[in-house]
Amino acid sequence: MNESSLPALNEGRSPSAVSSPPRRPSVIPVITAFSNEQPVKSALVARPRLGLAYRDEVSADRDDDCALWPRMRIIPGSRRPEFTRVHPLRQRELMREMLCQVCREEAAHDARGWLFLLPDARADWPGWPETMANGHPPLCEECVEPVAAFCPHLVGGLAVRVKQPVLHGVYGTEYRLSPNGLVAIGPKTVSYEDPALAWVLAAQMVRILNGCSIDEPLTARLARRAVR
Ligand SMILES: [Zn+2]
Repeated sequence: MNESSLPALNEGRSPSAVSSPPRRPSVIPVITAFSNEQPVKSALVARPRLGLAYRDEVSADRDDDCALWPRMRIIPGSRRPEFTRVHPLRQRELMREMLCQVCREEAAHDARGWLFLLPDARADWPGWPETMANGHPPLCEECVEPVAAFCPHLVGGLAVRVKQPVLHGVYGTEYRLSPNGLVAIGPKTVSYEDPALAWVLAAQMVRILNGCSIDEPLTARLARRAVR
């Protein structure tokens, strides 16, 4: 698996690149967090043999594969959309169900595969984005153009058709237990099978992209629209 192109939606590389959207968005993607959708303060603890947990944990704090997720208010449509911030629980739903990250309808898929829009990282390795760990949910054909025109993470992106986007694990913050308590030690992508999952607070659900081909005509069309 390659991780060098892991998307930086909430955190990670190139925060400066996402500081100012290039133009005023014409739509508000479902994945976007609103200003009053903030984390709910909750105490994290280290459980013997279990790893990271909430002190007052309930079953809804974990996904079906046991990853621990942030407790976030869910109030879409309220106050101000923050286009540089992703709502982790909506990202999870979109990624698991393969729904369009803008309209929540079923994402586009045909014989070429599922439609994703990815930041261009072709320099990262030959054959990119094959085997990439990806946190950007897919798109439908109608929403890919507006997203390519304004989304701060995806302007200049490449339209990619992916035959097998395989559910893999999560991207989040890894913790370890120190003599002084729990310490966040940085971002990590971890598979659902990896024991290290027990020490990660998820931020994004991740799929590994297999069977990728860049949709050159669509990418060219998006680029033309972006510079208009
Ligand atoms: Zn859509």
